[in-house]
Amino acid sequence: MPVPPDYPLDVAFVTTLSGHEIGRMPRPPRMSEQPEPHSPTRLQVCSQMWFDPILQRFARRFPHVRLHYRTRLESFVASENGVSAKVVEIESSQRGHIEADYIVGCDGANSMVRRSLSIGLDGKTLGHPVHLYFRAPNLLEMCGRKPTTFFITVDRGGVWSNVRVIDPVNAMWRLMVLDAGSALDAEAVDREAYLRRAVGRPLKVEWLGTSVWTRRSVVSQRYAKGRVFLAGDAVHQLSPTGALGMNTGIGDAVDLGWKLAAVLAGWGDTDLLSSYEIERRPIGMRNVGMATEFYRDHQKWDDDLAFIEDDSAVGAEVRRRMGEALVRDIGRMFRTIGLQIGYRYENSPICIPDGTPPYPDDPEIFVPSARPGSRAPHVWLSENRSIFDLYGRGFVLLRLGADAPDGSRLETAAAQRRVPLKTVTVTDREAIQLYEKQLVLVRPDGHVAWRGDTTPLDAATVIDRVRGAQRPSGFHTLGIPSGTTTSANGTTRTSGDVRLESEKRSRADIEQTSPNDRSRPPKRT
Ligand SMILES: Cc1cc2nc3c(=O)[nH]c(=O)nc-3n(C[C@H](O)[C@H](O)[C@H](O)COP(=O)(O)OP(=O)(O)OC[C@H]3O[C@@H](n4cnc5c(N)ncnc54)[C@H](O)[C@@H]3O)c2cc1C
Repeated sequence: MPVPPDYPLDVAFVTTLSGHEIGRMPRPPRMSEQPEPHSPTRLQVCSQMWFDPILQRFARRFPHVRLHYRTRLESFVASENGVSAKVVEIESSQRGHIEADYIVGCDGANSMVRRSLSIGLDGKTLGHPVHLYFRAPNLLEMCGRKPTTFFITVDRGGVWSNVRVIDPVNAMWRLMVLDAGSALDAEAVDREAYLRRAVGRPLKVEWLGTSVWTRRSVVSQRYAKGRVFLAGDAVHQLSPTGALGMNTGIGDAVDLGWKLAAVLAGWGDTDLLSSYEIERRPIGMRNVGMATEFYRDHQKWDDDLAFIEDDSAVGAEVRRRMGEALVRDIGRMFRTIGLQIGYRYENSPICIPDGTPPYPDDPEIFVPSARPGSRAPHVWLSENRSIFDLYGRGFVLLRLGADAPDGSRLETAAAQRRVPLKTVTVTDREAIQLYEKQLVLVRPDGHVAWRGDTTPLDAATVIDRVRGAQRPSGFHTLGIPSGTTTSANGTTRTSGDVRLESEKRSRADIEQTSPNDRSRPPKRT
């Protein structure tokens, strides 16, 4: 990692780097950090320069993955049966052709895939920031500052920039001008003037790069059309205030990834793929909305600014007052545990509500919950083993407590449909308390699909619902419906005979529409 484990992650509000400090949010270095209460992993600060090679190494580990750098998608045609794409290698101009079952446009803000489908973006442009990258050994020492990751500058002109360390070992920094007014050419940017204003005096640096970009607050009207899916900045572009952009895109990929894999493997059905947009678009809107609010927090400071740089008692009092307010208000964008990991899929067609009310979605507070739709919460099962280590490629049925009901009906229903499901008994007291019910069905992406205190009588319906083979209407009573009776011959009836009806429907679904039975062999990707 480029940020050493002993480097503090502090945020400081300053008039200039060599001027007054107005407020500070201490954030301890990684090595001294207590373990996160809600995650087996810790907060990491990592520039995309280093993150992309990590992703690349990970992707290369899979034998079926081929990476083609410097290759452009020129066009594609999607039909009911598959997708056919034309690509070109940029250096050699060599053209190629790819046949696939599906295409996922992760092609960024100007997504050609999205534009080809004539899918529009809802939202607005917030401004035109400038990024200036530079190397400045001893910047902190020269300015009399202790190691800090993020400086936010506030002068008579308001909150106008931030200076953040990219690589403390190699003295690499980035100055972001929050809004340079209108879209400029990078060549026309007066780097020296911006740097002087941020540092508070002239400074000789090695310039590494300049970029001008557009700060947007937009969400795509659709996330998918037929066999074409969109993910990442192609469907949501948000202000980096709050550090949510890539996190939101990775969330899209995690949600879509297991669903595509399930359909290609034959056990996922049609509603699984359509649940992608239903689950992820509301999260895109939520995150874009919050990031925009965090950006607006930067713009509201005009009172008292006239005195903020003064070396006087009035200036000191203004800085004290503003320091508290800045940490409280702008500081919100660094206190986002609820926003980062508290998202949940309400109204998902492939999660089965258990009737419990939703808890508040507070950006600063994370409420661990195994309510259907939520991310199954983390619990340490032993010193180095999180409950997360149980989740992965298939469904996991947790039996919580040694006396938890037997889950074999769900296992049988899953096996009949070739849905990968393993049952695990967990006796850890904290897990039992946190997960609240004795049986909890966790999806491959770690979200809870269903939970209950008794084995569902209609196990087939539960499995069909979570694999996208059955629409949810009229299935809010899937736990153990009240008024259930079991007759001597073992036939279970509820007042509306839900079980028999639903079983009939699910069998029909399997016979008629399941991709298991598709005669067409899967296409090569
Ligand atoms: C200043 C700033 C700070 C940020 N900080 C954070 C942060 O702290 N945390 C966070 O989570 N996010 C952050 N983000 C957001 C994050 O960078 C983006 O959300 C993320 O990079 C989007 O990833 P993506 O893969 O969807 O799109 P991109 O990163 O834009 O990648 C799209 C790729 O598709 C390629 N492409 C485009 N068209 C074609 C084509 N026709 N054929 C082939 N390839 C094509 C492009 O070359 C590019 O490589 C920040 C963004 C900015 C601007």
